[in-house]
Amino acid sequence: MHKLDHQFINNEWVKSHGERRLAVTNPFEETVIAEVTAGDARDVQAAVAVAAEAFEGWQALSGAERAAYLEAFAEGLTSRREALVEMSCRNNGKIRAEAEIDLDDAIGCYRFYAAQARALDARQGAEVAHDVEGYAAHTYHEPAGVVGLITPWNFPLVTSAWKVAPALAAGCTLVIKPSEVTPLPEQVMAEIALEAGLPAGVFNLLHGDGEGIGAPLTRHPRIDKISFTGSNVVGEKVMQAAACGTRGVSLELGGKSPIIVLDDADIEEAADWVMAGIYFNAGQICSATSRLLVHEAIADELHAALASRIDALVLGDPLDAATQMGPMTSARQRDTVLSYLNVAREEGLTVLRDGTHRSLPGKGYFVAPTLYTDVPVTSRLWREEIFGPVLCSRRVADEAEAIRLANDCDFGLVATVVSGDARRAQQLGRRLRAGVVWYNSEQLPLVQASWGGFKRSGIGRELGPWGLAGYLEVKHIIGPVLD
Ligand code: NAD
Repeated sequence: MHKLDHQFINNEWVKSHGERRLAVTNPFEETVIAEVTAGDARDVQAAVAVAAEAFEGWQALSGAERAAYLEAFAEGLTSRREALVEMSCRNNGKIRAEAEIDLDDAIGCYRFYAAQARALDARQGAEVAHDVEGYAAHTYHEPAGVVGLITPWNFPLVTSAWKVAPALAAGCTLVIKPSEVTPLPEQVMAEIALEAGLPAGVFNLLHGDGEGIGAPLTRHPRIDKISFTGSNVVGEKVMQAAACGTRGVSLELGGKSPIIVLDDADIEEAADWVMAGIYFNAGQICSATSRLLVHEAIADELHAALASRIDALVLGDPLDAATQMGPMTSARQRDTVLSYLNVAREEGLTVLRDGTHRSLPGKGYFVAPTLYTDVPVTSRLWREEIFGPVLCSRRVADEAEAIRLANDCDFGLVATVVSGDARRAQQLGRRLRAGVVWYNSEQLPLVQASWGGFKRSGIGRELGPWGLAGYLEVKHIIGPVLD
């Protein structure tokens, strides 16, 4: 990997105008592995100009022609599998199995939107049934224009695939800014674009931070739409910037999602799903089910099953096949999580497991898997997104209380329901204010279905046909019936 002081603009690596450099770290080794440019507004200017220039030609291609490039992205990722998995482990601190899941997700996403791009051709010019005599009306789906895409550090390649694939399928040209914390994996997308012969200017990649690239990109008047994944604090700034010039915005933001375990649940199965929902990716997942609502009849038993699983969880080198949880991706994120553990001490929360119950590896930005029980709903740890391996549990008396507490939250990204009666769990899911609900299941983000949240978890949906719709404008053409 190279050229982190360069930007990919118009199918060329050009030197960034930015003077500032940011350290890129390996969170397990605690070493600096690269330096990336912070970028600046002149880089944004250059990238947006060529994306605007390329738009006419790219949108004029058929969906089937664009699909061929999307297939090439899928193939390019597949052929670099081992290198990319290793890079994710090194730059992100992900364990190997999780890095592999990420890569498969990204590949599947490019394939899915290749199929969607082909299907788009058949949807053009659909006749509208109406009752105005002598008139014919047809609908067309056209690209939103030049789009700006901004992604976070917790799922590089995945969060970008969820945006780049539908944007290109729709016929948009784009400027993407990956997170400055994990800039390495997305570099490869530029390499693949060149290999695939993607027309110049269609895909532009800018390295940098929020100040250098993110903010100027969201403010740029030639950007028609911004799609952002990240924190609520930054999401609100993005929305404000998009308001200037009345430009479109999609936001995938934070969560504080519930997992409900009903009284008839199988304890061992429930414990596995609770564990996966909070300790996957060391808890750095927007969809972490970080609030456990467990029926009081089985709470002690479930807590005991969780404690023994937490004790058995192997923390260590992400590249070691035996490791089950890696470090936090950055020292900054580790410190943020630790500050919440201090709040927990000040609030006097009941600790079932934390760093005092185990020793941590000798190096790496680790936080011990932590479990608080009987957490008051007023606690900051119950209400705020922590973005780390910290689970808060509460006992509930019945389903009604579980639903009420699950929905008593500013966020509404996902939820999980576990019950011995799958129908009961599925029906309970209908009453939860969340964009995705799993019942008796691990977290499966289906590329064919929708992703996105209610309430403060965001605006709009990614994945499935909704992901594509986010990059399309609908046009209606009407007039006298043609001979
Ligand atoms: P962040 O908001 O700090 O950064 C996200 C991106 O925004 C980065 O690329 C950053 O450089 C950029 N940025 C920073 N300031 C900016 C500005 N003023 N204007 C434009 N861009 C700016 O988030 P993060 O710490 O990278 O990621 C963690 C957050 O992302 C969590 O809140 C998590 O829940 C959320 N997330 C949500 C989803 C989802 O699908 N809903 C998925 C992954 C992560």
